[in-house]
Order: sequence, then C-alpha cells, then structure tokens
Amino acid sequence: MFGFFTTIIVGSYYSKHLLLRGVVNVTTNTARNMIDISSNEATTDSKVAEVISRMAIHDHEQVLFCQDQATGLKAIIAVHNTILGPSLGGTRMWQYATEAEALTDVLRLSRGMTYKSSLAGLNLGGGKAVIIGDSRTQKSEALFRRFGKFVNSLGGKYITAEDVGISTREMEWVKMETPHVAGLPEYMGGSGDPSPVTAYGVYVAMKAAAKERWGNDSLGGKKVAVQGVGHVGRFLVEHLVKEGAVVTVTDIYEDRVKEVVKEFGVQACAPDDIYDVDMDIYAPCALGATVNDDTLERLKCSIICGAANNQLANEEVHGQAVMDKGLIYAPDYLVNAGGIINCYWEVIGYNRDAAISQTEKIYDTTLNVFKKSSEDNIPVYLASNRLAEERVAAMAKVKSTF
Ligand code: NAD
Repeated sequence: MFGFFTTIIVGSYYSKHLLLRGVVNVTTNTARNMIDISSNEATTDSKVAEVISRMAIHDHEQVLFCQDQATGLKAIIAVHNTILGPSLGGTRMWQYATEAEALTDVLRLSRGMTYKSSLAGLNLGGGKAVIIGDSRTQKSEALFRRFGKFVNSLGGKYITAEDVGISTREMEWVKMETPHVAGLPEYMGGSGDPSPVTAYGVYVAMKAAAKERWGNDSLGGKKVAVQGVGHVGRFLVEHLVKEGAVVTVTDIYEDRVKEVVKEFGVQACAPDDIYDVDMDIYAPCALGATVNDDTLERLKCSIICGAANNQLANEEVHGQAVMDKGLIYAPDYLVNAGGIINCYWEVIGYNRDAAISQTEKIYDTTLNVFKKSSEDNIPVYLASNRLAEERVAAMAKVKSTF
C-alpha cells in the first residue's frame, strides 16, 4: 500500500493542514535527514490520503509511523480516541507480511481499546502500537529504547504496555525513555501480573450470565469447559472450583493440564474435544475466533463467557448466530477488562482493592448489556458496542463545557 516507511505523523491538525496545502512532508527521525518529498507529490499524496481515509473510517485521531535505520525499528502507534482520557493499549511485536497488514491490525486493535475502556467505565481512551519484526530474533535494547522515545514524543497521549511478543524485559527498556508505560512488574514499581484480576472479572461476568439464563447467579453444579489453562484460565478454574462448579479443562500443553487437574481435581479432555463435552458454559481462555460456523454446530452450552479476545470469528455473523441459537454470549472485551482496570489503577496510583472492586462492577455492566440487547432486540456484541459509544459521546459533551 505504501512503499515508504519513515516517520509520518498523521493527525487531525497535520492531515487537514497538509492536505489543504497539497504538500506532504515525510521526515525521517533526525532533523539532519529531513527529506521533502513533495517532488514526488502525486504518489505521496495518494498514499497519505489512503492512510487518512482508512483512519477516517472509524475516526482515528492520530497515527504515528516510526522508523529508525540504526536499530531496525519499524513501528506504528495508533491513537483511536482520547475523549475519555489518554489512550492506553499494549505494544505487539509481530512479523507482519506487509506494512499495510500492520496498519490494519493497529487500527483495529486501538479502536477495540476505546470500547473496552469505555464499557469498563475507565477514564482512558483507546490506543495500541505494533512493532514490525520477529520477536525471537530482532529484539534489542536500542530498538526498544528508540521505540520508547517515540512513545514519549506523544507526551502521554498514548500509554503503552506489554502485548503479544513483548515481555517485561523489553518494557524495562521502553521505560528508560518514557514514563508512559503501564502493566509493569512489581519490582519496577508496577502492579504486576494482571491475570488474577482478569480472571476475577471473567468469573463475575459468568455469574451475571448465569443470573440472566437461570435466574440466579450460582455456578454451583454448573458444568464449565475451560479452554486454555494459562495465566487467566488457571485462576478462573480456582474460582469455579471454589464455588462448586464441575470443570473440564484443556490445553495444548499437557503439563499445564496435569498441574491444574492435580491442584483442583478437575476433569480434562483433548484440545479438539472441548467443543463436544457436556457443558453448560463454554469459557474460551486461549485463542480468538473459536466461536465460528464449525464450533456453533458442536457447542451444546447455554453460555459463552471467557477471557480470550475476539471470540466471535466474525462479529456480525457469529454475534447474530449466537443470538439466533438462544445462547448467552458475554462480550469478550467487557468480560476480560480486569487487566486494563488493573493498568488504569497503576496509572492513577495503584490500589489493588480499588482495582478489584472496579472489576467487580463487570457483573452489573454485563447485566446492563444483556438488558439493552433484549430491549433493543439486538445481538449482545452490538448492545455492548452501543453502550461503549454512548459513554464516549456523553463524555464528549461534558468535556465541551467549561
Ligand atoms: P496464556 O498464554 O498464559 O494462556 C493461554 C493458554 O491457552 C496457554 O496455556 C496455551 O497453551 C493455551 N492454548 C493455546 N492454544 C490452545 C488451543 N488450541 N486449545 C487449548 N489451549 C490452547 O494467556 P493468558 O494471559 O492466560 O490469556 C488468555 C486469553 O485471554 C488470551 O486470549 C488473552 O489475549 C486474553 N486476555 C488476557 C488478559 C490477561 O490479563 N492475561 C487480559 C485480557 C485478555
């Protein structure tokens, strides 16, 4: 899509200003290397206009393209919306096939963060970053410190955190160049692993879904199938077992399954069999897109509620299909918001009890989403999107007053 990759800032001021002038300045990251490519105006104009029109589809505020030849850094930071507060979202390191694919991902993920924080009632906007590269071979202190400088250049409009392909070691490097980092381990002054808080949010959302389906929120005796017993899944199993649920677990790593079976006395099944087990509740805590044409034929549950992101393979198609089948689907980005709630409290001054108590509110919000879904006769995913959008729109009005 765009064959150049240097530092371009595309934001509302810049886009309007530059397009009005019909000139686009593409600058490298050092003043010394400032290049005016207006000589190639037609091509550059169309490439930049294409980026800006893609930003306009979901009204992204700003996209920062970053490159640094010395360290090999190629990154994109997308700020979707800052009406509720500074945008917060992790940085993902991934070997994208093309730069266009990386842009698509960061635009999609940053928008998702706006919805997640809004519905969770946080004063945070939505942002996300991607670093294009192989996380096994291309990491270096210099690359991440350079990336940290780009994050810092946004002056707090974007706060980063760990995501796929990034560990605390790299965040430590990023933190050397910017204070705008969250989700840090305790030894770095952060709030530590968010997974127990995320798991607690999934658990309370599951109770809300049970109340919606069976009229009371007890999970005692309910058959729950947990797919993936990693960080979140394991803590979720602990809550479920304590409440007397009958749990079946699976994971692609046998040792993890064995540990959980031994610790909690639950049943286990092979990864491919999880969709066919006798269950009341399916709890996807591994991958996205596991609610799809194939699995919807097989799942005999009443409720879908788990930590995994993007559970619906196609939001519109499978969100509607879930509703048509009479299943209760608890929206993933609401259910797993405990992690971002924990980060939020780290940003404003960490208080574990406050983070847990705010996570507990996921119970009421989940019930509100179900209420809106049935009142408006729309799928749950749409009801939750609308509630998230309504809060952003309402706060935009509040903020426009003195
Ligand atoms: P994790 O990597 O620790 O655990 C995921 C587990 O799923 C692993 O044990 C993995 O082996 C297993 N798995 C992978 N593919 C599988 C398959 N096909 N079948 C069965 N098991 C499989 O990740 P996590 O931190 O526990 O997060 C779980 C999910 O929740 C992810 O989708 C993540 O994006 C989402 N999430 C996590 C948090 C958090 O606080 N950790 C917050 C929000 C969302």
